[in-house]
Amino acid sequence: MAEVKVIWLGHAAFELDYNGKVKILVDPFLVASPKKADEFKDVDLILVTHAHQDHVGETCEILKNNPKAKIVAIYELASHLSEKCGVKEFIGMNIGGTWKFKKNGVETSITQVEATHSSMGIGAATGFVIRFPGFSIYHAGDTGVFPGMELIGKLYNVRLALLPIGSHFTMGIEEAVEAVKLIKPEYVIPMHYNTFDLIKADPNLFKELVEEATSTRVIILNPGESNTFFV
Ligand code: ZN
Repeated sequence: MAEVKVIWLGHAAFELDYNGKVKILVDPFLVASPKKADEFKDVDLILVTHAHQDHVGETCEILKNNPKAKIVAIYELASHLSEKCGVKEFIGMNIGGTWKFKKNGVETSITQVEATHSSMGIGAATGFVIRFPGFSIYHAGDTGVFPGMELIGKLYNVRLALLPIGSHFTMGIEEAVEAVKLIKPEYVIPMHYNTFDLIKADPNLFKELVEEATSTRVIILNPGESNTFFV
């Protein structure tokens, strides 16, 4: 049996740990995180969905303590960040593509998917599907709801979706409930809410509406809290 530990670091930042063998950070903006940039060890990959500062976050600081970690982003952003952080290697991808990462006998697939959002003119805004053996996670990035979410759920057999609910810059609760209906994951963790006044949202209302309309379970975390999934 394997364990997938999913830690919410506040906003859109997550730490994903597969059985203590593979460690992936997504959008490490740590303003609400009890764990600070210099406390991250053994990071393999840092996935960045788009160029906004509340998603790039502390990528460069984390790389300083994790020189083996690789930036994974859309090509233009990966190249831009590697220069900014002073690292040579990066994984530049694009939408629809998959990159396979092998470490400690574990193969993890990273697929870049679309998002309807902006990205400072550096590449396009994206989401990621992270497929560990037997467990698939969709991090939607910043996005509105879009019909292609149905295909993402189906193609990659998404079991856990990480979805923004804060509105103003992304989907709000009403749209995110529709996103859950399209993706049909087993679990959802809401993100991108209550970091700032502009994105205030009630995760309990989201949970109530999703669980009334679908068989998906909503897991509400506080920044720094985690949920472990067994596969
Ligand atoms: Zn954004």
